[in-house]
Amino acid sequence: MKVLVATEKPFAKVAVDGIRKEIEAAGYELALLEKYTDKAQLLDAVKDANAIIIRSDIIDAEVLDAAKELKIVVRAGAGYDNVDLAAATAHNVCVMNTPGQNSNAVAELALGMMVYAVRNFYNGTSGTELMGKKLGIHAYGNVGRNVARVAKGFGMEVYAYDAFCPKEVIEKDGVKALDSAEELYKTCQVVSLHIPATAETKNSINYALLKDMPKGAMLVNTARKEVINEAELIKLMEERADFKYITDIMPAANAEFAEKFAGRYFSTPKKMGAQTAEANINAGIAAAKQIVGFLKDGCEKFRVNK
Ligand code: NAD
Repeated sequence: MKVLVATEKPFAKVAVDGIRKEIEAAGYELALLEKYTDKAQLLDAVKDANAIIIRSDIIDAEVLDAAKELKIVVRAGAGYDNVDLAAATAHNVCVMNTPGQNSNAVAELALGMMVYAVRNFYNGTSGTELMGKKLGIHAYGNVGRNVARVAKGFGMEVYAYDAFCPKEVIEKDGVKALDSAEELYKTCQVVSLHIPATAETKNSINYALLKDMPKGAMLVNTARKEVINEAELIKLMEERADFKYITDIMPAANAEFAEKFAGRYFSTPKKMGAQTAEANINAGIAAAKQIVGFLKDGCEKFRVNK
């Protein structure tokens, strides 16, 4: 069996070493295609691969057509919108992601950005503290749970709303589960966003939801930019000088936010929530383990094209 690691932006060496160890221990062969610059290189490399590990690399119908021996593709990371799931299913190829492997990295960034914002972006002036503030976690998935854990360490009062996670699961962690997004935003001065971008959630963070946040409100987005209704957020921030927006996903209207809301708007230059050595290593090794589990035992636990 041949496992190909196809990464335009390669894993760290230590992650590749870990992947190799898993694959070779299972008796399989590892092939590397790193820093490729042309799709033709990918089309050539996949020809005899039985399994592929990717990062943000595009696996479309053309790649799947070329990969005649392919059984499984694993996206080392959470999001898998770079893989054509319908085409993979049509080619009888299993697609998996590696959920949870970067959640602590994203959670630490969310809390780090909160501290940065309440301390006025470290500009030397007096700020405020997170301790005692009400934090609302919007979606209690892998990242949301880690944010709750870290925020409790800061002494924040933690609330959460998740459309699908049972309240008992949330409350078991010492987090107060609320019944609706509206209630969460009305209750909490700081809201940390962790919803996926779906047909239902796109543009859902809007004026109506944000307008009732308590005085000194702050919205922290480490999820996806598509979930924000940018025009309505701008309108709200024009009306409320106390409102801060802090994001790891640069808005389409970044220049307008930066110009209008200096001192209460911050965006990372490039999405960096999952950009840590640890997350990189965890996701790569998890991908290798999932491939071995699938090829040896038929385990489809993290399959996303069911
Ligand atoms: P996850 O799948 O573990 O959790 C998502 C949660 O959202 C689930 O608990 C689900 O029940 C809940 N949910 C879905 N639709 C909802 C809705 N309409 N209302 C309320 N809750 C809803 O995902 P995760 O790994 O925790 O990732 C969360 C978000 O963070 C995703 O948007 C992901 O793309 C993003 N992310 C960003 C980075 C980064 O680098 N900034 C890295 C990883 C993940």
